[in-house]
Amino acid sequence: MEKEQQKRYRAWAEIDLHALEHNVRAVQKILPPSTRFMAVVKANAYGHGDEAICRKLWELGVRWFAVSNLEEAIAVRSYCPYGEIFILGYTPPEFAPELSRNNIIQGVLSLEYARELQHFAHQPVRCHIKLDTGMGRIGFRGDSIQAYMEQILPLFELEKLSVEGIYTHFAVADCPDAENTAYTKQQEERILQVYDALAESGHRLQHLHFMNSAASVTRPNPRATLARIGIIMYGLEPNYPFHVPLQLEPVMSLRSVVSHVKEVGAGDCISYGRTYTAAQPRTIATVTIGYADGYARLLSNKGYALVHGCVCPIVGRVCMDQLMLDVSELSDVVRPGDVVTMFGKDQDAVITADELADLYGTIGYEIVCGISKRVPRDVIGV
Ligand SMILES: *Cc1c(COP(=O)(O)O)cnc(C)c1O
Repeated sequence: MEKEQQKRYRAWAEIDLHALEHNVRAVQKILPPSTRFMAVVKANAYGHGDEAICRKLWELGVRWFAVSNLEEAIAVRSYCPYGEIFILGYTPPEFAPELSRNNIIQGVLSLEYARELQHFAHQPVRCHIKLDTGMGRIGFRGDSIQAYMEQILPLFELEKLSVEGIYTHFAVADCPDAENTAYTKQQEERILQVYDALAESGHRLQHLHFMNSAASVTRPNPRATLARIGIIMYGLEPNYPFHVPLQLEPVMSLRSVVSHVKEVGAGDCISYGRTYTAAQPRTIATVTIGYADGYARLLSNKGYALVHGCVCPIVGRVCMDQLMLDVSELSDVVRPGDVVTMFGKDQDAVITADELADLYGTIGYEIVCGISKRVPRDVIGV
């Protein structure tokens, strides 16, 4: 089978690098000149395929990459031999030599963790200190600047740690209401205070970062040397249905194929559980995608897809490898082999991963990250 044919054989995710470029440029425009773009490419670039995304980002001049773990970091290192690669989360300390060998920067989550890194390191490990200023996930915690300082200062005595920066993560930067905005402001003030106290005690760190996508849009702060940009780079909203004031273009479209078309009569049932019964004669198309591809079963009788630019509802349960659409509106034109857009653009119609996610109580992030390995990524606009 030809490569092209194979991609269009069943289900594929189209990855549009022009859209990526558009989004990166749009974000760069709103970042303060003193703040550099750190591309968050964890989880296989949010499911988009880290190799194509990182190579394109490098070509666009992006030099900082953030990942969640060592395996991802080493993959990114192979695509970007000279970039700065930062691990946001935990690396087992016995891998400290791997970090130095690959010139990877590690987040330091606690003093105890720092001591473990020191214990296992051969060469100095580059690191940024993680503060938990209100996310409640990882990092140094303290109820006063003094409390933070007491835990952080001993780090500078560990000669196998090269402390180059400090960062924190916002919990509610995507929520625009007053209470949440105040919470974010407090988190931001806290890290700035700790940064300044460290500088005063002789440790002026090179890097300071706290903005994610949402904060970069709503409260860009020139004191940040880096902004960690994830979801908006992929063209999705941090908190749908709130819109960030940027023209974003979704990078991923998910497509599949009609395998079978039939007419059913009133009273006929579709799929497992008989959750759909036709009230009148309908035209039903079977599509070669299912929950094993990452298309959620929770979208049974809820989701919809585009065929010939027309919105068609899913009828019955989503199966492992197949699902059914009501294509009665298109009964004259729909044929096996026709392309089905599960999300993305088709002619003038668009379905976004964000709107689908909203239908079953999740976020666009989870949809794109969850598109499974068996779905080939078809990169366009290289
Ligand atoms: C994933 C992640 C980001 C990126 O968040 P977006 O909302 O996708 O911009 C930034 N910082 C940390 C620590 C993260 O884990």
